Amino acid sequence: MRLVLLGPPGAGKGTQSVVLAKKYALPHISTGDILRESVKSGQPLGLQAKKFMDKGELVPDEVVTGIVVERLKKSDTMKGYILDGFPRTLKQAEDLDRAIKGAGSGIDLVLYFATSSAVAIERLTGRRVCRSCGQNYHVKNIPPKKEGICDKCGGELYQRPDDNEATVRNRLKVYEDQTKPLIDYYARQGILKRVSGDMGVDELFKVLSKVFSDAKLV
Ligand code: AMP
Repeated sequence: MRLVLLGPPGAGKGTQSVVLAKKYALPHISTGDILRESVKSGQPLGLQAKKFMDKGELVPDEVVTGIVVERLKKSDTMKGYILDGFPRTLKQAEDLDRAIKGAGSGIDLVLYFATSSAVAIERLTGRRVCRSCGQNYHVKNIPPKKEGICDKCGGELYQRPDDNEATVRNRLKVYEDQTKPLIDYYARQGILKRVSGDMGVDELFKVLSKVFSDAKLV
């Protein structure tokens, strides 16, 4: 099953990806995670990407598409994958189509997580992430047992530099301008399924499991 998760930042794409990847044994490919990893390890790619990420702007298409095309060549993607946060522009979507069609496959389903701005802003500005294991928390909705400390590994929790309110608002604007056109792009291909990203994690997961079985993908 080859999936694309589409929707604004804060829609819950990352959270659902983790659960879906586990249930269906698919690799979770998040361009945001890959870029943050390169920033953390001080790679040239990370240095280049950081200045865009900190402002909530998109990293140039050719950089991001190159990362994904290389990642999709790995053997663990043979049975499918979950693309989270990619593509984010029409150019990325077209280049992805070309690359995978050239390799004889195509995207099976695009899940569009329709989410209100108010919910997205509340989720993102309250989000805290473990520096060691990457586990996500929320100051109100999913607080850790001990403030600032990860329940799973004891690591330090931090706020992503792009999760402050001003940058979050810019990320939502960038989404409206550059990513929203992908809804039509995939609807025209007949592979778009709209779900509500405003739902809670467990409720949405149940909806998605049904979408896959109805579409005979599992
Ligand atoms: P995310 O974790 O998906 O919210 O991504 C964090 C940041 O990484 C974004 O605000 C962009 O700066 C960058 N990024 C992630 N995915 C892409 C993409 N497909 N195209 C361009 N920039 C991206």
